[in-house]
Amino acid sequence: MENFTLFAANIVAAFVLATAFFLAGKARRGERYWYSWGFANAVIGMALVAFMFERYLPYLFLVIIPNCLLVFGLSLRWQAAREFAGRAVFPLWRYGPTALFVGICAFPLIYDSYAAVYSVVNVLLFGLAFICAVEFWRDHSDRLPSRYGMVVAYGVIAASFAARAGHGMAFAEFFPKHLPDDDLLTIHLSVAILHITASGAFALSLAYERDAIRLRQMADSDPLTGLLNRKAFETRVSEYLGDGKPNDFAMVLFDLDHFKQINDTFGHAVGDDALRACATVFTKKLPSGSLIGRWGGEEFVAFLPNVAAADALLSVERIRISLKTTMIRSENHKFTVTTSAGVCHSSCGVRDFRGLLSRTDAALYRAKDQGRDCIGRMVA
Ligand code: GH3
Ligand code: MG
Ligand code: MG
Repeated sequence: MENFTLFAANIVAAFVLATAFFLAGKARRGERYWYSWGFANAVIGMALVAFMFERYLPYLFLVIIPNCLLVFGLSLRWQAAREFAGRAVFPLWRYGPTALFVGICAFPLIYDSYAAVYSVVNVLLFGLAFICAVEFWRDHSDRLPSRYGMVVAYGVIAASFAARAGHGMAFAEFFPKHLPDDDLLTIHLSVAILHITASGAFALSLAYERDAIRLRQMADSDPLTGLLNRKAFETRVSEYLGDGKPNDFAMVLFDLDHFKQINDTFGHAVGDDALRACATVFTKKLPSGSLIGRWGGEEFVAFLPNVAAADALLSVERIRISLKTTMIRSENHKFTVTTSAGVCHSSCGVRDFRGLLSRTDAALYRAKDQGRDCIGRMVA
């Protein structure tokens, strides 16, 4: 395919994706990276238009305009990648690589040889594409599939820039005074169109993958304490119970004692802080692998898988002691709370969620009846 046609295809792809990013940004106010990505693509599109016609430009403009636009476009992509990851962005970094390119070109030794200009710009572009790949790789522990696509898209274009830098250095004497219109350019433009479309598509899907996870977490958690909410807790425990394995387990309901008095004495906001402090104690003190949720109000529910009845009672006793000895500080007040707990162990023969819950609730009532700050049990 002719290089002219490939340039045109790259330009169309860059502007189409710039538009898609701007539209996505408009729909989701407050997320700057969409606009940064869109702006970066528009600048890269303009750079490609300038490259298409660079040989008709006077030498000074031919050196400066298309190359500066491309370096600036990639610098914006880098900054957008940092914004997406929530990392710090400094305005100077956006212009730094472009300023560096202009500074290097100011040396007559570089300026007078287009091969040198070409090598310098491609080394810079290689560096920027490589940094972009690193920025996306850094958060790979979230295992979002599109992240790997981004890393490959930037890695491939980085390799292509590196090849071009090497080409400029190796064939400096045969270089024309403008971008050589050769087979290497054809290969590079083919790689570029793959990169532009792939990085654009993966950027969009990566953002949506991340959103999907955040929305799921929001839907599953209690906004005050961050613990599982009632629905999510029931779903997870029912999944465990439904897999049919004859494992031991225990269900626990905690109900804070005389909690109304805390609200009445110190106010609702202090009561909220106390609920958060209790949630932290439950999370820290439950055995690993346990599920903990806020059942409602000042009631919490826990599920301990693979646990013997005696160990479950020991864990709940540890939590009870820990809670009454934890000093809660809020708005200049210092106080402690106690909890009553009901425990139902699988040894009592019930293996369905509703049945377990009513047994655990009955055990909790027993604890309240026995004077609070104690454990009611339902074991075989
Ligand atoms: P008991 O020992 O019998 O459990 O006494 P209690 O006062 O804890 O029991 P009750 O269920 O009558 O009262 C629960 C109180 O918990 C009522 C309400 O003021 C408080 N509460 C429920 N949800 C919240 C909340 O989200 N924030 C705050 N601050 N208080 C809450
Ligand atoms: Mg209650
Ligand atoms: Mg209570």
